[in-house]
Amino acid sequence: MKAPVALTHVTVIAGDAAGTVHPEWTVLVGADGIIEYAGPAAEAVVPPGYATIAGAGKFVIPGLINAHAHLFSNGKPLSKVYMHPKTEQVLTRFMRGPLGQALMRGRTKRNALNQLHSGVTTIRTVGDVAFEVMAIRERIERGELVGPRILPSGPLLAIPNGHGAPQIAHEAETPDQARTGTRINLSHGARSIKISATGGVTDAKGIGHAGTPEMSEEAMTAICAEAHAAGVLVAAHAQSAEGVRRALRAGVDTIEHGSSMDDEMIALYRDNPRSLRGWSAMIPTLQACLPLVKLDQSFTKVSDVVKANAEFVLEEMLSGIRSALENDIALGVGSDSSVTYVTHSNTWRELDCLVRFGGLTAAQALHAVTQVNARILGLDQQLGSIAAGKAADLVLLEQNPLEALRTLQHPVSVIARGTVIEHPAITRIEAIDDQLDSF
Ligand SMILES: [Zn+2]
Repeated sequence: MKAPVALTHVTVIAGDAAGTVHPEWTVLVGADGIIEYAGPAAEAVVPPGYATIAGAGKFVIPGLINAHAHLFSNGKPLSKVYMHPKTEQVLTRFMRGPLGQALMRGRTKRNALNQLHSGVTTIRTVGDVAFEVMAIRERIERGELVGPRILPSGPLLAIPNGHGAPQIAHEAETPDQARTGTRINLSHGARSIKISATGGVTDAKGIGHAGTPEMSEEAMTAICAEAHAAGVLVAAHAQSAEGVRRALRAGVDTIEHGSSMDDEMIALYRDNPRSLRGWSAMIPTLQACLPLVKLDQSFTKVSDVVKANAEFVLEEMLSGIRSALENDIALGVGSDSSVTYVTHSNTWRELDCLVRFGGLTAAQALHAVTQVNARILGLDQQLGSIAAGKAADLVLLEQNPLEALRTLQHPVSVIARGTVIEHPAITRIEAIDDQLDSF
């Protein structure tokens, strides 16, 4: 059992869209990691035996939820060897073998803990090498490791040579193959299922390739039916209007990256009969694109084709964000950690990008990464806000993040299901941070 905790006289940032701030509150956390009281400090009675954290002058927010993450790499540009048609099959086989999986479990653990220490208390993965994330999740759930709550996907489902294949994908073309891949992941304990509905940026083979529809609507429908029968939500990588439309029609619950929207798509997001809960959400990942667009190619070393695709995808995503805000479509947050320039210490930068480039207020961005993400992932009964009965996933900060998002870069402490991490140990990649700070 953990020690119960009292966080006293702290300023609570609620995480609602209005940016509500509660000065002088006390938060009591039981030994079971559940919040017992969150309200005015003057009315709080701290029971004996509670470890006190003095919150005066500090700010606390609900733990961040990263709804689009990968844990297989650290955010440095992906090795050319791993992306090369001649070597990718061999390397993928190795990574899925016993030695490669031991290596991947080590990386997964380091990257998941790096996110936790950076304030991310819940992670949904959307494309893993094999089942290494399930293994780390189990260690965390057994209490062997203080880690974030993880909803692992296992390998995503893509057509042969489609986006993410073969490195982080089961290859599936027909509805039967798609169903089989989904069942394999579910049998290994997947808590999310991911599809590549269209091509992507990093492995684009020509200009405009990123949004080209790949998996058929029939195959995606089969995946959704299979996953939904197990109560599991389906995410689809979709980077063009046509790709998003097909994924929504198939019943996909969360559109990853996203695109511009027309009336049919807006209606489908809001009322999607084939989705698990009757609606679908958009989860943009600006960090995965902006550096490729903004930074000089002498630094990024990406080809003209990749850069042109990144520009196209960025415009589509920004247009989609505007439509989501205007039409009350659930807009979540994901960092796309592990892809080029998206490190595990930088989930906060996604909020910064949403504010500076996506037109959100800081309150809307913080709302999206806490309460909205919790609702999108079906975890809003337990997560996303600071209230009695909710899990004590909290981040203590030096400054008010609504005024200075950058304070999220250095949490004073992180509380994960009631366990206090007093001096978060964050691993940063300075060369990348310096470049990201330049635009
Ligand atoms: Zn991704």
